[in-house]
Amino acid sequence: MIKGYKVIEVEKGYRCPLCNGHDDCYYVILDGLLDIPICDGCNYEFGYYFLSPPESPIWFLSDTLPIWERVPILETITGISIHDLRLSYVLRSLSSYVDLNILNEKISSMTENMDEDKKKIIARKERHNWIAGIRHRKKLIRKILKLREKIQTGYDDSDILIRWWNKREENRFKCKKLISG
Ligand SMILES: [Zn+2]
Repeated sequence: MIKGYKVIEVEKGYRCPLCNGHDDCYYVILDGLLDIPICDGCNYEFGYYFLSPPESPIWFLSDTLPIWERVPILETITGISIHDLRLSYVLRSLSSYVDLNILNEKISSMTENMDEDKKKIIARKERHNWIAGIRHRKKLIRKILKLREKIQTGYDDSDILIRWWNKREENRFKCKKLISG
């Protein structure tokens, strides 16, 4: 879900500009990114999309518009390219990891009535996820910056993304081969 969103009231009959199929229970605007209300379903799906590597194809199992049709709509209404939107989203998301108190509070509330051993296991797992979350976002930022650099030097973004995807599949295949001997 996109951080820095605000739930707002909309007029009856209002439709989210990004989809045609979500049962919209409530609408949000995204601080500093989008002041047109979108439905919570799109908010959630775009959050997930932005945190995935840019070369990954995303298939949402919903009867709304597929993401590749929603991306140009989002670019038009924000006036920002999808890569810049993703970068801005990931940077915000990374900033939510600065405050370690958030992690500690989460662990305390999760482990409230547990015995010490169980508490330790959960705390270790949550700390591990926290670090993995930071690493993932940093890696993603480096990747988006690299992509933008390539686009600025005249490359076509879909060519680069296809190449990255193929490379990833190649590596996965190599790994599988190594594991199976
Ligand atoms: Zn929507």
